[in-house]
Amino acid sequence: MKPAPFEYHRPTTVAEATDLLAEHGDAELLAGNQSLGIVMANRLATPDHLIDLNTVDDLAFVEEREESVAIGAMTRHRTIERSDLLTEKLPMLPEAAEQIAGPSVRNRGTLGGSIGEADPAGNYPAALVALDATLEIVSADEEREVPVSDYFIAYMFTDLAEDELIAAADIPTDPFPPERTGMAFLELKPAAQTWPTVSAATAVRVDDPDADEPVVEEARLALANAADVPLRVEDAEAAVEGESLSEDALEAVAEAATAAADPEDEMHADSEFKVEVAGEYARRSLAASYDRATNIETDFDAPTDH
Ligand SMILES: Cc1cc2nc3c(=O)[nH]c(=O)nc-3n(C[C@H](O)[C@H](O)[C@H](O)COP(=O)(O)OP(=O)(O)OC[C@H]3O[C@@H](n4cnc5c(N)ncnc54)[C@H](O)[C@@H]3O)c2cc1C
Repeated sequence: MKPAPFEYHRPTTVAEATDLLAEHGDAELLAGNQSLGIVMANRLATPDHLIDLNTVDDLAFVEEREESVAIGAMTRHRTIERSDLLTEKLPMLPEAAEQIAGPSVRNRGTLGGSIGEADPAGNYPAALVALDATLEIVSADEEREVPVSDYFIAYMFTDLAEDELIAAADIPTDPFPPERTGMAFLELKPAAQTWPTVSAATAVRVDDPDADEPVVEEARLALANAADVPLRVEDAEAAVEGESLSEDALEAVAEAATAAADPEDEMHADSEFKVEVAGEYARRSLAASYDRATNIETDFDAPTDH
């Protein structure tokens, strides 16, 4: 099927794009077109107006700020995957980007499209929730900042109004100095180039990476596709904080993730299986983050018999 007819707009500035949104109530934003095209071709979306952001150059950037890194909405997955700044400061994001689908999706797909789509299985939504990012949202009348955990409200339902667009995500770097931090994005996929069954995004900061038993000062864990929104699991974080990593603490992580997960059945994975994967991948991903934060190598991230 072909998309229903629409009027095509090509703004070159954010102000032009938001003016068009204000003018046309029934408009969709076009970013990498890796999801919207399919939805429109199946006539699940039939907007009268399409506002193409590909000519708004000001939305494509990765920029270091005082205590954060900001990523513009039109930044492609490929750019995030290859960014030296992100690899140094927030390595969870390049690791999340490199696992999205295949090269053609990564060459076109964007951060803003992924957040705009708000699929709870998406890689960036979980990563940004784990990293406590703030979204910069603009309309013709207003600019506002929204903590990403408040943005995702229910299944593919967000805090974004019809006349607003996502301009950028701002991600704090001060909690995670690279020399004492490890991050991981671990996902189980039924096949290459498809969406993951469940993913775990984790970060760990230790007190002293050279100590015999480095203590976890701060941990973060968010799961993708384990609930109707990206799921931060604070009980799991608390289970490893304040002590050196142990098998017992990781078992508590798995239990907390399992208890928090509330996924839907899917064709390739029923909810029971997804809950089990959530626990196991939370455990493995946190263990991998700890190994990367320290100069010791545990074998905690090896698969268990679960
Ligand atoms: C085969 C395949 C496998 C995939 N696997 C994965 C995967 O494993 N993990 C993963 O995370 N993703 C996956 N994706 C999705 C991919 O990451 C898409 O690129 C992404 O979800 C949508 O980004 P886009 O730039 O293409 O947005 P588009 O398709 O252009 O737009 C998607 C939605 O976001 C809205 N939007 C776009 N930009 C903005 C903005 N700035 N502000 C507000 N709303 C906006 C649009 O209006 C639209 O509703 C996969 C896609 C395909 C086709």
